[in-house]
Amino acid sequence: MAMIYKGSEVTEALNERIANDVEELQSRGISPTLTILRVGERGDDISYEKGATKRAEKVGVAVRNVILPLDVSEDALINEILKLNADDSVHGVLMFRPLPEHIDEDKVRNMLAPAKDIDGITDLSLAGVFAGIETGFAPCTAAACMEILDYFDVECKGKQAVVVGRSLVVGKPAAMMLLDRNATVTVAHSRTADLPGVVRQADIVIACVGRAKMVDASYLSEGQIVVDVGINVLEDGSLSGDVDYAAAEAIVQAITPVPGGVGTVTTSVLMKHVVEAAKRINA
Ligand code: NDP
Repeated sequence: MAMIYKGSEVTEALNERIANDVEELQSRGISPTLTILRVGERGDDISYEKGATKRAEKVGVAVRNVILPLDVSEDALINEILKLNADDSVHGVLMFRPLPEHIDEDKVRNMLAPAKDIDGITDLSLAGVFAGIETGFAPCTAAACMEILDYFDVECKGKQAVVVGRSLVVGKPAAMMLLDRNATVTVAHSRTADLPGVVRQADIVIACVGRAKMVDASYLSEGQIVVDVGINVLEDGSLSGDVDYAAAEAIVQAITPVPGGVGTVTTSVLMKHVVEAAKRINA
């Protein structure tokens, strides 16, 4: 039976470190502050906002909310971002996406100052991940995958890692971060030939596809460490990852559950980045 890499274990350790850092900053008169910028009333955004606010309270990060109507103009949204960039009491900004269709998302996301871009949405943040320099921050989900590997002492050096999915939010940054940890990385996607064969030869698998249970027994082999990023809602309303968990449990060495895996850690990584942003600004 596989070891279960529970997100809660990682989160607990991470939260403790973050809370200590917050205390240290507060002792210097600095209150790490996250602003959540939401356009409209999307249920997903609101529930993420609630989770993030609760997590922030737990570790002592202050939260402010900026909520704009769905028909907000592009200029008004950009103005709001520029105000947040200029506000020294705000250390990190989380802006939910997708933005409404009348807004040029690429233009707007790049208005955020990389120093406050705690979820790695700007091109400069992503460039930093690719260049290995701290221009901004890595996207939290990709960083959460690394937190899990680090917490459970998974040695990446010299290992074959396969990332299934190549989005800018998860797949590509996760691949770069694995490369940084000296893994030999393959990025697979919807056009990859013999995907099961490619994934089977990996020591470390990061599944970020968005297809429930796609990574089934035919993709898996003994000894693998599997990080399942997928969050898919099944017909009965329950959640499933991209990996067939029941099949994987019987084959691989370790797997992250869904729910209770990467998603849990992502929220704490967000707080870690806010604190890091506050530290960098006040260094
Ligand atoms: P995207 O839809 O942006 O990217 C999906 C990737 O999977 C694409 O690169 C696509 O390939 C690839 N893909 C799709 N179908 C197949 C297939 N049949 N075979 C191989 N590859 C395929 O999704 P995201 O990266 O944004 O998210 C991925 C998953 O992670 C989703 O389930 C999402 O809900 C979840 N997620 C979880 C988070 C968390 O905190 N746990 C946060 C963010 C996302 P191609 O490029 O060729 O089209």
